[in-house]
Amino acid sequence: MQAVRNHAVRRVDSWQAELARPLDDRIGAAPPHLIEYLTLDNTVQGIAQRPRPAVLEPEFLVDVKAAIRELPPQVWRLFRERLIGVYFVENLGGTGFSDAVTDRAGNRVAGYIVLDAAVLRPLKANAWATWKEGTPFKPKAGYALAARIEAEAGDNRKNAIQYILLHELGHVFSVGNVLHPPWELEPKDVPVSAVYPYFDLSWSIDRRASRYASRFDKEFPQRRNVAYYFGAKLASAEMAATYSNLERTNFPTLYAATHPGDDFAEAFASYVHVVLQRRPWQITISRDGKTVKVFTPCWDEPRCADKRKVLERIVGR
Ligand SMILES: [Zn+2]
Repeated sequence: MQAVRNHAVRRVDSWQAELARPLDDRIGAAPPHLIEYLTLDNTVQGIAQRPRPAVLEPEFLVDVKAAIRELPPQVWRLFRERLIGVYFVENLGGTGFSDAVTDRAGNRVAGYIVLDAAVLRPLKANAWATWKEGTPFKPKAGYALAARIEAEAGDNRKNAIQYILLHELGHVFSVGNVLHPPWELEPKDVPVSAVYPYFDLSWSIDRRASRYASRFDKEFPQRRNVAYYFGAKLASAEMAATYSNLERTNFPTLYAATHPGDDFAEAFASYVHVVLQRRPWQITISRDGKTVKVFTPCWDEPRCADKRKVLERIVGR
């Protein structure tokens, strides 16, 4: 654990060579010191996978660079100094993640993104979103959830990568910005006097249990059982009620309700995708082939007005 905590990868000094290059050149296979760190981290966390640098075929890199190039310029501009790079591995043990790096005084000053190329390679936008948004619910015959984040013409790998990248960029943006407590901190260790303008709109801290509570846990009792990717806790019969209650909160997506950091990352991705890029985003829940609930973005609804103001200040409108 010590080797993970004190690893050079977590210090901005060890990235000087990368930071001297243009941002476009900091997108590619993970450097050896990052692979070493990821391997140690997986070992500590009991994750069996041993990451290796990705060998990126030209068509894949074309999709990644196009996904970035097509982001609104005011979005990419936020990351010149803050983003160390986007690095690809295989066998990560997840789709991707971001981490913060610190200066010599221990201040979080930048972040990097790691993505698993083997996971991304076969993806298409709507199939990926449908899979992800279905993971909190135990599968049951007759119940279905479909997510649509692209029109048919844009339902491709490049746009799947773009949406995944937007979420991770949301995490990187939070580094060095006062939005929510840093993810390295245990909830009980967050200073009592700290003010986080974004976090405070939805969250409070249960210090005794050292966990984050939402301000909407009464209206939205399912929130505690929202678990993505591994081990669904909610019954499929609760899909429609879960999304109806989500509308009584200011969380932009269901995943946003799982953790303060993901609340911001989801809001960032959703706002850029829906408001700035005018792309579709919809969850449709059906029972025996009949639609029973449609959930759409909240950016024009009063429930998300305060969060929208925060995002407008960051990326414009
Ligand atoms: Zn996340």
